Amino acid sequence: MYQKTLSIIKPDAVKKKAIGNIINIFETNGFTISDIKMLKLSMEEAREFYKEHAARPFFNGLCEFMCSGPIVAMCLEGEGAILKNREVMGATNPSEAEAGTIRKMYGDSIDNNAVHGSDSTESAERELNFFFSN
Ligand code: ATP
Ligand code: MG
Repeated sequence: MYQKTLSIIKPDAVKKKAIGNIINIFETNGFTISDIKMLKLSMEEAREFYKEHAARPFFNGLCEFMCSGPIVAMCLEGEGAILKNREVMGATNPSEAEAGTIRKMYGDSIDNNAVHGSDSTESAERELNFFFSN
């Protein structure tokens, strides 16, 4: 199924100057980048974006991290884009991510894991609207 999904290059990967390499990985894997935006989230925006995790002990730290510097939000498109993006990203914890995945290459820890990707059609729609509503 042809799908759209949201990818975010997180502040840690931007600081590492990995934007170009990460975009190259997406394009090499066949995704079409159909929209892209660099921005810095406010704390309020980060809390709204990650609201599904509001009750988790790591929520405040996660939101502070996502506000700690600029991010790059992208719309990735292609066949099975949502699951394929999750595969290209690798496991949430970079130490468990497979070789060749973005998180293995650029993630340092579970809370500094380089990229975000939508995990379902519902979250992809909500998250794309969050960044690209007009
Ligand atoms: P993302 O939503 O960022 O793409 P994910 O879907 O792989 O990551 P989630 O379970 O949605 O993982 O968690 C969201 C983010 O919260 C993770 O990317 C990670 O940075 C952080 N996180 C998740 N679990 C933990 C944890 N146990 N300790 C610290 N941070 C965590
Ligand atoms: Mg998630």
